[in-house]
Amino acid sequence: MNSIIQIKGLTQVFSNSGNDETIIHQLNCEFSKNEITAIVGPSGSGKSTLLSLIGSLEKPTSGTITFDDMDLNKLKNAELSSFRFEEIGFVFQQFHLLPSLSVFENVMAPFLTKKVGFGKNERVKEVIQQVGLEHKSRALPSQLSGGQQQRIAIARAIVNRPSWILADEPTGNLDSTNSELIFDLLVDLHETQRCGLIFVTHDLNLARRAHRIIHMQDGRIVEDKKGERVC
Ligand code: ADP
Ligand code: MG
Repeated sequence: MNSIIQIKGLTQVFSNSGNDETIIHQLNCEFSKNEITAIVGPSGSGKSTLLSLIGSLEKPTSGTITFDDMDLNKLKNAELSSFRFEEIGFVFQQFHLLPSLSVFENVMAPFLTKKVGFGKNERVKEVIQQVGLEHKSRALPSQLSGGQQQRIAIARAIVNRPSWILADEPTGNLDSTNSELIFDLLVDLHETQRCGLIFVTHDLNLARRAHRIIHMQDGRIVEDKKGERVC
């Protein structure tokens, strides 16, 4: 399920103080779940906007995004919310953990209003263990290092076994050692859980480790090439 994302004629126009600005220009592209794709490009080139559109956090001005046979434009808001819960795990540069909740509660958060056919507590414990932080379950985010916080954010992203992980500069706030560790974890999830992985980065060393590198500029793909040193 959900092995290909097809993007056709994708355009996003934002209105900034009365002026329409085209941020994504008639973009055509495909992503395969079997590949790790890096998106690189200067600040303001539309990388985050593209990731938000793919993850249905935003609706496009025009164009289509299709996950296998499912066209996101055809889904109502409630269906989009279910789609995100079932299929997409987001990881952000700023972690976005809830500061007053424990590690365990943060990872549980996606399940709070949802019914699932398995034990939520066991699944939360399992993913915290998977990211190597079972000894921190009761800690608050402020008691963790940046690298540990990002591991918990990743645990939260995968707790419902998404088909795809969309990561927007996941290592942007980390030093090089922690960046490598976080990237290794994402690669491991791609390989062992078969999650498709699309990540935005400024770190060309990490981008080279992807199977594919897409270079964006001014809302367009200006280069689409193979990585040099896969994983
Ligand atoms: P990148 O992630 O490559 O740095 P973004 O996708 O965040 O780029 O932003 C691209 C451009 O779109 C920027 O000029 C930004 O100001 C603009 N932009 C992004 N989101 C919005 C929004 N919700 N409303 C208006 N302008 C936006
Ligand atoms: Mg961005």
